[in-house]
Amino acid sequence: MTTPIYDVIIIGGGPAGLTAGLYTSRAKLKTLLVERMIMGGQVMTTTKVENYPGFPGGIDGPDLMIRFQEHCQEFGLEVTYGEVEALRDEGEEKILTVDGEELHAKTIIITTGAEPRKIGAPGEQEFTGRGVSYCATCDGAFFRDATVAIAGGGDTAAEEALFLTRFAKKVYLIHRRDELRATQILRDRLQRNEKIEILWNSAVARCEGDASGLKAVELADTVDGGKRRLEIEGLFVAIGVVPKAHFLAEVLDIDDDGYILTDSECRTSMNGVFAAGDVRKKILKQIATAVGDGAVAAIVAEKYLMEE
Ligand code: NAP
Repeated sequence: MTTPIYDVIIIGGGPAGLTAGLYTSRAKLKTLLVERMIMGGQVMTTTKVENYPGFPGGIDGPDLMIRFQEHCQEFGLEVTYGEVEALRDEGEEKILTVDGEELHAKTIIITTGAEPRKIGAPGEQEFTGRGVSYCATCDGAFFRDATVAIAGGGDTAAEEALFLTRFAKKVYLIHRRDELRATQILRDRLQRNEKIEILWNSAVARCEGDASGLKAVELADTVDGGKRRLEIEGLFVAIGVVPKAHFLAEVLDIDDDGYILTDSECRTSMNGVFAAGDVRKKILKQIATAVGDGAVAAIVAEKYLMEE
């Protein structure tokens, strides 16, 4: 049996990948989308998306992503599951290794997104899944009437702290500085919520517990270095994300933080290979910008195919 040569292979099934897939399959390009685990990307872990246009009152992240998938299905987007391990440039053909098998395409659109950054504190890994979590939406309900903490000072930490107050009796927000990065609307909501207490200038230095799970964290004061113990049953980590592009580091231009470098039309340093969404270095990482990237990458890939 001969190996099919796709016009486009999209790596990753988040908002950028699904938008690219919508455009290329609607344009009747032979497209395959390869997803590692669950379609929908990081949005699947978001409770309510309030700033994606067209949904007054907001929409639950998973509901939004199901709509993206259904929309792609209307145009017959082909999807497969597997982990992309490598990319090889053979001129007109690009070869992807997916779970040990080779896939061939004329163009590739990388939309692998990003994954939660780890604190790197002793005990963090040991208690992951036993008190330490990277997704409040997924695990928050396990902490009914508990005292929990969230590490981070951005929009994600703020949103997750607010979400956790639905279940927990007390939510500490541990932030390394004395000012939040989160937008004003979320800061105001944090301040108004009586269950939330912000611990300024604090960093998680150690996670402690026993066979039953997490019991406490040791906090370090980021100004004077002082240590204190905070008894909690759950620690949610929301300190930003790291791009999932390590498997491409040897073949594409990538910046010091691991983001793929592209031009304004999503072209990477490899001819015929494009990057879109959170994995690409850019100023704003939102669903709206991921969708914009996905559309641009698809159209520029189509133009590339016509020129080739
Ligand atoms: P983020 O904006 O990069 O914020 C990360 C937070 O974690 C910052 O407060 C940062 O502290 C802190 N941090 C980073 N590394 C740390 C470390 N090693 N130890 C302790 N703290 C650390 O990440 P995000 O909140 O996940 O948001 C990512 C993007 O998604 C942003 O553009 C955000 O606006 C967007 N987003 C938007 C919404 C929304 O609009 N509703 C919701 C979620 C996310 P410093 O402040 O000191 O750097």
